[in-house]
Parts: sequence; C-alpha cells; structure tokens
Amino acid sequence: MLSAEQLRQFRRALLEWFTMRQRDLPWRHTRDPYAVWISEIMLQQTRVAAVIPYYHRFLARFPDFKSLAEAPEQELLACWSGLGYYQRARNLQKAARQMKQAGAFPDNYSAIRALPGIGDYTAAAISSISFHLPHAVLDGNVFRVLSRVFTDPANIASAAGKRHLSGIAETVLDKAQPGMFNQGMMELGATVCLPKNPQCVICPVSEWCRARQSGTQSDFPVKIVSRKSVQEKRILFWVERDGRILAWNARQHPA
Ligand code: SF4
Repeated sequence: MLSAEQLRQFRRALLEWFTMRQRDLPWRHTRDPYAVWISEIMLQQTRVAAVIPYYHRFLARFPDFKSLAEAPEQELLACWSGLGYYQRARNLQKAARQMKQAGAFPDNYSAIRALPGIGDYTAAAISSISFHLPHAVLDGNVFRVLSRVFTDPANIASAAGKRHLSGIAETVLDKAQPGMFNQGMMELGATVCLPKNPQCVICPVSEWCRARQSGTQSDFPVKIVSRKSVQEKRILFWVERDGRILAWNARQHPA
C-alpha cells in the first residue's frame, strides 16, 4: 500500500488528469441522481457511443421518475428498443414507481442499493456522484487499475479476490471528492490503462504503479476461472452372450 503522502499525491494526480482529460459525455454535465441512474443502467452491457442517443431520447421523453413511473410499458420498451436486455427497462420502471410512492429519489447507499435492478457498482456510482457519499465503485476497469498499481495477486474472478480489492478501493478513494475520484478511476481504466497495451507513458498515476516499474502490466489483473466438476449419473443396459455385447443402451439417470 502507498504511504499517506503518496496516497494524497496519487489522488491529486488522478483528479487533475480527470478534470483536464475526461471525455465530454452528456451524463457528466449533471449530478441529478435520476439522470445519473438512467445513464448507469444504460451503460451496463452497452458501449458509451451507442448509449448517447438513447440517453438523450429517454430523458426527453421521461425527464423524471414520475413520468417514468406513469409511462405505458409499450412506450417505455419502444424507447428502449435497440439497447436490448429489456429487463433493465422494466426494473427502471419498478424502481421509479417505488420512488413515486416514496416521493423522492433515495439519498443513501442502502436505500439506492435496495431498488430493483441496482447492484453494488451502480449504488456506489449514484451515491458518490450525486450525493458525495464515500463509496468506491468497482467495475472491470477499476479492478484492472488497482491490480496493476499494487501488483496485487488477488484473483478477480473469485468473490474473495473481489472483496480484497474492494477493501483497497475504499482505502484509495478520495473521500473528499468521491464522485470525481470514482469517475477518474473508471475513465483511467477505460481510456489509458487498457487491457492490452496500457498507455503508461501518458498515465497520470504511473509514478506509483508497481506493474509499470516491474514491466509486469500484462500479468495483472489475475483472473483464474475455476472449472467446476460436473457429476452425472447414467444407467447402462446391455445384452451379452458368450462374452460378446449384442446390444447396449445408455441414458441419463433421472435426477
Ligand atoms: S502506469 Fe500503466 S499499468 Fe500502471 S495504472 Fe497507468 S496505464 Fe495502468
């Protein structure tokens, strides 16, 4: 881990870089939790460039949770058409109806996390960007950056590995500016610390990166997918005469 002073410098370098170099994306012009939420859900499984026109259209048609809660499902799905994974749209509406009933967008991590269709990552993103709450986001980009900076051998394909890196992410997080810091980490992973050919020469945190110092960028993150053994029961019948099998049949055992 870095010393307190190194951590301070790391955070400052990342924030300065993000302020200067971030991509101009429409959801970065707002901290409205509703708009941030819509963008985060759209960005799941979908590329940034593909999301932009949908984001504009969706917010023009459903500008707040009340209009989304009251929308006929067919109109909602038509607006989502092309983004795929329609369950995301249905969950948006379920959550919007809960907000309408409560009268507000929830303003704390647990309540946001409890909404339909929202996992740890999305809850941390909305909490930090819209409400300045100190929750670190962890997506594939952030795992990669942290693994490389600390040459951390945790296996990101395992729950234990993710928990371990999540602890590091909470330590590294800039609690004074969690939203900007989180977005900076994700932006770094998406545009500089790429899975192949990381752009270390232009990286704002290269000074503190152990993978760069040791030339081991391609060894991190560690991802070992364990193959589970599958047990199968089969029933085998055969007809035998004088040591010769005349006919046989195998079928799966009913569970
Ligand atoms: S120095 Fe290279 S490997 Fe390290 S965080 Fe930056 S881009 Fe990634």
